[in-house]
Amino acid sequence: MSKTDYYIGIDLGGTNIKAGLVNTKGEVIDEREIRTEAEKGPDHVLDRIGRMAKSFQSACEEGVHIAGLGVGVPGQVDTAEGIVQEAPNLPGWKQVKVRKELKSRVNIPASVDNDANLAALGEFAFGAGRGIHEMLMVTLGTGVGGGLILGGRVYHGAMGGAGEFGHMVIERNGPVCNCGRRGCIEAFIGTRGLLQAVKDRLEKGRKSPLSAIPEQSRTPKDISEAAESGDALAREVLREAGDALGVALGSVANLLNIERVVVGGGVAKAGDLILNPAREAMKRTALAVSRETVSLVPALLGNRAGLTGASRLAMLDAGY
Ligand SMILES: [Zn+2]
Repeated sequence: MSKTDYYIGIDLGGTNIKAGLVNTKGEVIDEREIRTEAEKGPDHVLDRIGRMAKSFQSACEEGVHIAGLGVGVPGQVDTAEGIVQEAPNLPGWKQVKVRKELKSRVNIPASVDNDANLAALGEFAFGAGRGIHEMLMVTLGTGVGGGLILGGRVYHGAMGGAGEFGHMVIERNGPVCNCGRRGCIEAFIGTRGLLQAVKDRLEKGRKSPLSAIPEQSRTPKDISEAAESGDALAREVLREAGDALGVALGSVANLLNIERVVVGGGVAKAGDLILNPAREAMKRTALAVSRETVSLVPALLGNRAGLTGASRLAMLDAGY
């Protein structure tokens, strides 16, 4: 009997490590999550990843072969060498040889890429991006992440820095972004930008149930919930955020003539309240050819996009 190949996908975050055993259809057969314990440094984190991989190995039925392991890391990655150059949310991660270190711990071929790129690859291979070749994935959260698929592959650019959709500037003298620059899309639709938009309106005397929530504990989820229950202020904030998003997406469409934009992340759960204005602004901004080509859809894989994308990277590197 021939062996069944499975792949391990790891989504390494600053707080948690999510791991899945994935088959070649992208189905998650087994799934685990543990604390990263990032404060204990790279060796400790790599040990933890190694132990997770081994626990999958020992739980596998006879006839199953784990053919590869992929890791998504929140940072700058040298994908050719499998080295994490820098990861701001992981203390001590500078020039960490992830591929080599994991190979010595678990003896499975390991591949590494940036987590946003792998979320894009996951949606492209197994989710909302199936069947196309040119795609942008946008993740709306505290920050705004991006991953670009061109010609059916993750596009890295000259030095691995491509896909930073969140730092496309849409207003030259706009608000300061988390990156220190002005007017990036993230400064408008990242968590901080959304909450600031609520605060500005409340300070002008606008009425909203959001004023009952103390400023420091307000979240984008509160905005979505208020909007869903009909609050005009919350709806306006999401509409403007969607409009800003759509203007940036229309520019991306003009540059790359992409077929599909896939939007995921917590803030995207506001659904059409943010996506419809984004669609309108995108179509308004895009030139005729790009306008006819491009569509905007919600992500399908939720927080599994990263780990299924990581497993897909391992499959590609194994020649599958
Ligand atoms: Zn920025």
